[in-house]
Amino acid sequence: MNTVNATHFWPIAASVLVTLVALSLLLANEVRRRKALQREIKKLVAQNTTQQQVDRLTGLINLTTFEVALAKRAEVADAAGSLFCVLHVALDELGMINDGFGQDKTDKLLITAAEIIKGVASNSELVCRIGGGEFAMYVSGGANVARDVAHKLCQKLEQSVQLDSNLLTTTCSIGIAVYPEHGTHQKLVGCAGLAMRTVKLAGGHDFCVYDPQMGANVRDQINLLSDLRKALELKQFELFFQPKVDAKSLQFTAAEALLRWHHPKRGLISPALFIPIAERYGLMGPIGRWVIEEACNRAGQWKTKGLRMRVAVNISGFQMREDDLVEFIESTMQRYDIEPGRFTCEITESVAMENTKVTQQTFRKMGAAGFHVSIDDFGTGYSSLAALRQLPAAELKIDRAFVTDLEESEDARSIARSIVSLGKTLNLRIVAEGVETLGQCELLVQMDCDELQGYLFSMPIPADKLEELAFGVSTNKGHGFRDSLFMSNSMLLSSNA
Ligand code: C2E
Ligand code: CA
Ligand code: CA
Repeated sequence: MNTVNATHFWPIAASVLVTLVALSLLLANEVRRRKALQREIKKLVAQNTTQQQVDRLTGLINLTTFEVALAKRAEVADAAGSLFCVLHVALDELGMINDGFGQDKTDKLLITAAEIIKGVASNSELVCRIGGGEFAMYVSGGANVARDVAHKLCQKLEQSVQLDSNLLTTTCSIGIAVYPEHGTHQKLVGCAGLAMRTVKLAGGHDFCVYDPQMGANVRDQINLLSDLRKALELKQFELFFQPKVDAKSLQFTAAEALLRWHHPKRGLISPALFIPIAERYGLMGPIGRWVIEEACNRAGQWKTKGLRMRVAVNISGFQMREDDLVEFIESTMQRYDIEPGRFTCEITESVAMENTKVTQQTFRKMGAAGFHVSIDDFGTGYSSLAALRQLPAAELKIDRAFVTDLEESEDARSIARSIVSLGKTLNLRIVAEGVETLGQCELLVQMDCDELQGYLFSMPIPADKLEELAFGVSTNKGHGFRDSLFMSNSMLLSSNA
């Protein structure tokens, strides 16, 4: 029995041992595999957490992480009794850049901008991308330190950025909020954002420090913008007209159309207030077309009545960049039977000197169509004689600022004199705007200005009032005012009779 047992024992024991060794090997393998899996999972979790904290495009931290860091900075500042600021930086016109250059180039611009902002920051870890073209930055110290940083940042971002073959110039708007002066650390980014939006509403490309009043102002502007979107449809616009008179005969030569907005609650709103908003928020296209249509309509009616005045319309920078502007004006003029030479496009000097391809093309088309082009607010920009010679302009309007000071300031007189002689060299007609006094009028006549415009002759008035004035019906005439130079012969005979 013992012999038999012994014979069976060893093979069984050996196979049990082999099984045990195999099992323990398997177990060790499984433990190793599981450990590797756990390491992998840990790594992925860590990676994911970092990704959630970091903006993928620029590598900057995101807003949530920035706000956590701000909370810590606030604790430190409270303990030390020190100050810090948050800058809310927004690139201007990013939407337009995206439309014009595409997503890839915009992304490159954002990466470059992020690098520039990091380079200016004293603590490059505390710069975050909020989203789109908006960034936030922590600055240790008070408002003066933050202003210096903002100034530097504006300058650096303004320098042209080379994107492949395109040289882009970016500008930015910056809002600054100070801790603890402007509220808890949770409110700082919002306050700086409001200040940034205030800068944007004022035209962008600047910086300012938050003021509690800003909330109301921004709300006010946003309300105005939403009312402006509906103004055309609700027929709240009207064109007023202001005559230009011949400097020698004081007769009408033209009427400039000036837009008026009858706001249901606020009354008459100045175009100086709402046109910049319309330009910035893409409403100038339809409003500008309405102005052209209405001005041509009026000019057509005057023509039928025998009053053949030139009509002048202000053309904004946005309109100059529309590639079908000239075709639109031409077809409208045809509809109202107006000759091209009787239509003046007033374009400000700063827009005229914008050297973009589209603007230059619009100028060329205006010249070819035979429009009368006038360079408005002349003397405020930096036109060179060579650049002026390139434009198909027929008229220069001396800016009101020089006319206002004419009697008191020798500087204003010499500027006006040099504009007149520059214009004459280029064979342009010279119009002086904003003439309010007889003294200014006499000086401008002596300087050999061709046409005058201003309250001395007439305020901008509704179309029917201008018609009455031109026909000599109105009793409310300005200084020495005479009837239209363009009144057709038959009308002149009947009105003289
Ligand atoms: P602007 O083209 O330089 O027009 C002259 C402005 O000076 C007008 O202001 C006019 O009412 C005012 N003005 C005329 N004579 C005198 C004067 O003797 N003294 C003074 N103090 N002011 C005088 P307004 O009508 O408020 O227009 C302001 C600006 O808004 C215009 O300046 C023009 O740039 C813009 N604007 C007006 N209508 C339009 C429009 O239909 N389209 C575009 N794009 N801009 C327009
Ligand atoms: Ca004008
Ligand atoms: Ca002007």
